[in-house]
Amino acid sequence: MGVRNVERRVTTNPVTVKGVLDAVKRRQALTRDHIRFFVRGVVDRSIPDYQAVAFLSFTRCNGLSDAETVMLTEEMARSGKMLDLSGVQGVTVDKHSTGGISDGTSFIIAPLLASYGLKIPMMSGRGLGQTGGTLDKLEAIAGFNVFLTQEQVVDQLNQVGLAIFSQTDEIVPADKILYGLRDVTETVDSLPLIAASIMSKKLAEGAGSLVMNVTTGSGAFMARLADAKKLAATMVDIAKAAGRNASSVISDMSQPLASFVGNALEIKQALRILAGEQKGFENFISVVVELSAHLLVHGGLYAWDQLGTARGDLRTRLASGAALPVFRQMVEAQGGNVRMIDDPSLLPTASRIIPVPSPSSGYVKRINATNIGLSAMYLGAGRESKESKLDLAVGLKVGTFVGDRVEEGQPLAWLHVNDDRQLSTAIDSLVGAYEFSNQPVKRPRLILGSVI
Ligand code: URA
Repeated sequence: MGVRNVERRVTTNPVTVKGVLDAVKRRQALTRDHIRFFVRGVVDRSIPDYQAVAFLSFTRCNGLSDAETVMLTEEMARSGKMLDLSGVQGVTVDKHSTGGISDGTSFIIAPLLASYGLKIPMMSGRGLGQTGGTLDKLEAIAGFNVFLTQEQVVDQLNQVGLAIFSQTDEIVPADKILYGLRDVTETVDSLPLIAASIMSKKLAEGAGSLVMNVTTGSGAFMARLADAKKLAATMVDIAKAAGRNASSVISDMSQPLASFVGNALEIKQALRILAGEQKGFENFISVVVELSAHLLVHGGLYAWDQLGTARGDLRTRLASGAALPVFRQMVEAQGGNVRMIDDPSLLPTASRIIPVPSPSSGYVKRINATNIGLSAMYLGAGRESKESKLDLAVGLKVGTFVGDRVEEGQPLAWLHVNDDRQLSTAIDSLVGAYEFSNQPVKRPRLILGSVI
């Protein structure tokens, strides 16, 4: 996961690739010069992928100190252009999640907050490991362009109030390269690498206030609550040191946040929630409301001691469907086919739906949510390698959650399938994700803490 705050001797190694790699291998602290050299080398490609991966692997195993994590974040943020939001009329706020399964809260939070007049410049990523990616999901909407220039972002924020876009080659190119390598080299679940990846994007993107959603549990990169708390505090410290308002919310990801997993499936789910549907989406909506309430406070609409009132107002507004036209406007502004928003059945749809029966009866005791994400990946919803081409239509619908009673043969989930090649692996991954008990099981707590 990454050891932090360890006593480290500052390296006297030369500022070369070998010097950097040798230092991280031997747990010696890097200087700013070493870190800058590494980040620049990754971006100008003088450091090839295999050496970048060596850095990522050593860091994944040996960690970085807090000071190194801050320097890595800052150097990555400066690896390209910083977004200049000075032309935006209004208060800029943003949220970022460390990711999870069926975690598409951005699609609700951004338009919901824009409906209050806040401006949301949301620089997002692609699917990573078992988790889905905001940009991949949006590309299920035909024509949706995630590659916006700085001028387009500023114009869209002034006109529509929100923009969801990729970091591109110009903005935080270091993260674009390192993120892609981490995804396929088992080096995602590292506290300093996650903190640097997220916060470099957030610093470069320039929003004045940030809320970070740190997920924990079997479907999250920070499986243990203690690590999630540390990551939450680290990211808030980095943001505040850079002069931003910031807070973190730690939430449960020991099971999928909602039912649908897969790119188009999660857009369809988001459209139902944006239209005001609540039944079956209670956990998802609670996380949306908690993160949004923090941003209403950061945005100056409520005080911290009015968080309860903010939550109530957000729930009412979401249920009214007020955020849906704002989402539609964003889709239109970014070239997406709005007919798919008006009629979600036009979104990519898999050719077959296959139920996966439960192998036993009992109460669901535990779900390995990572295996649920991997099941969707085997169907084609996620990347197995950097070159993988996604099938935006496929994925699954989870029908059974922790604490539910299930009978043998009753479906645990329904797979949305186009290609049979890895179907049996997907089924095994899904069935293997479930553990049962004869005794009733308590449902997990959803909001596990916050850092303000
Ligand atoms: N989201 C990111 O942007 N980066 C990570 O490393 C994990 C989640």
